[in-house]
Amino acid sequence: MFGVLKRKPLDKLMEVLGKGKVNTSLVERRLYSYDATPIPIQRALPSAVIFPESHEDVVKLVSVCYEEGIPMFPRGAGSGLTGGAVPTVEKGVVVSFERMNHFDVNVDNATAEVQPGVITAQFQEYVEKLGLFYPPDPSSFKYSTLGGNIAENAGGPRCLKYGVTREYVLGLSAVIKDGLSIKTGNPVIKDVAGYDITKLLVGSEGTLGLITSATLKLIPKPRARATVLALFDKLEDVGKAVTKIFTSGVFPSALEFMDADAIKAVEDYKPVGLPKVEALLLIEVDGSHQSVQEDIRIIEELLRPMGVEIRTAKNREEEEKLWSARKSLGPALGNLKSGKINEDIVIPRIYLSEAIPKFREVAQRYNLLMVIFGHIGDGNLHVNFLYDKANREEEERAERAVDEVFELALRYNGSITGEHGVGLTKRKFLRWQFGDAGYELLKGIKLLFDPKNLFNPGKVLED
Ligand SMILES: Cc1cc2nc3c(=O)[nH]c(=O)nc-3n(C[C@H](O)[C@H](O)[C@H](O)COP(=O)(O)OP(=O)(O)OC[C@H]3O[C@@H](n4cnc5c(N)ncnc54)[C@H](O)[C@@H]3O)c2cc1C
Repeated sequence: MFGVLKRKPLDKLMEVLGKGKVNTSLVERRLYSYDATPIPIQRALPSAVIFPESHEDVVKLVSVCYEEGIPMFPRGAGSGLTGGAVPTVEKGVVVSFERMNHFDVNVDNATAEVQPGVITAQFQEYVEKLGLFYPPDPSSFKYSTLGGNIAENAGGPRCLKYGVTREYVLGLSAVIKDGLSIKTGNPVIKDVAGYDITKLLVGSEGTLGLITSATLKLIPKPRARATVLALFDKLEDVGKAVTKIFTSGVFPSALEFMDADAIKAVEDYKPVGLPKVEALLLIEVDGSHQSVQEDIRIIEELLRPMGVEIRTAKNREEEEKLWSARKSLGPALGNLKSGKINEDIVIPRIYLSEAIPKFREVAQRYNLLMVIFGHIGDGNLHVNFLYDKANREEEERAERAVDEVFELALRYNGSITGEHGVGLTKRKFLRWQFGDAGYELLKGIKLLFDPKNLFNPGKVLED
């Protein structure tokens, strides 16, 4: 549809941006044609990789691309799992935001102005030293960028209590069709003027425009935090325990689930001494020193009578060990089989006890190894089907099993994705979730921001 990019438009890009910001070397183009998506996806070698250094650079870049009909594929750290940052047509250019990595914190207003290329962990560490807190914590936080997090509306364990990235974005600057600059929102908590374009752009996966800066909300850093490990002999008790915790007045800052296969995968990959049990919950509580102690006592009193063993991390080192086990699950599964389809469906918490055994039935019916883990507190589960990459027949079985998992999630009034986004890999399921009328509305919104379909074409919506 787009063909191959001629030399002339590339020269034009070099002319307006400067040669140092437009890289056409084969090595660089290859390197930037991948992201972390674990399954085979449509991929093309881009014509160039562009490294803007300012909002003005992005305006110039989009103006030329819009004039010349050049598709743009925005990219943060490339840690996305659904092909969001991957170029799909040769005529396209990858726009890497790695050089736009500055931020300013306003301590008194508890807000920050950030550029998209800032690494999430570096920002979090900085604000915590100032007594502030930026909670969104995707497991990829050590290398993913704030721009990528915003474009994906990323979440993580702590989003259970504190909300996902969208809750923390007060405003944005972006460049849309024809190189038009837009500024949305303000550094204030309350702002109900007009339609909420900020919230619309968060999670738009680079399909509506290029985000060049964001105003983020910060909150006070909790004074104390503790992690509890709850060990289960019966899988079906996990859902009951989660309900008990949430009806007890305790609001955990994170509540993560691992089944027996997930525990084994971690112990085989990077052993931390997790015991062999049917399932475990990793529970984090935060607040004041007193409230944290009180919360732990309540959790113990609730779960011990169910026959659940409780262990509390004694110090920061033990806590970090437990959380590193949870966060290393993604790579750990790579040790079990060469192929993996990792989905991140969401179902309302009340249906968890009923739904998890149903997912197991799907795996048994398709004769597949399945590992479940994830953010059970907010119903966001990572259902992983593992297969041998050399075995096409097994891979096809895994693809059919995933279709059934999505159908189940939607039947329970859930979502096809809680944090990884739609990208390329879940496009076909989006219409299932939105229905025909809702899907047409999505297409209308895309047309308004990007009438030539040049921002991340082929992502989220089917061409
Ligand atoms: C091991 C591992 C664990 C993970 N755990 C989690 C998790 O717990 N929670 C979670 O939510 N995700 C998780 N992810 C997925 C991924 O890390 C997140 O989606 C993250 O937000 C992507 O950030 P990135 O900087 O790598 O963006 P990229 O992957 O480079 O891009 C992601 C999307 O954002 C778009 N984009 C990037 N920058 C801009 C911009 N400036 N303007 C417009 N669009 C832009 C891209 O086009 C793409 O569509 C995990 C990934 C890995 C590999």
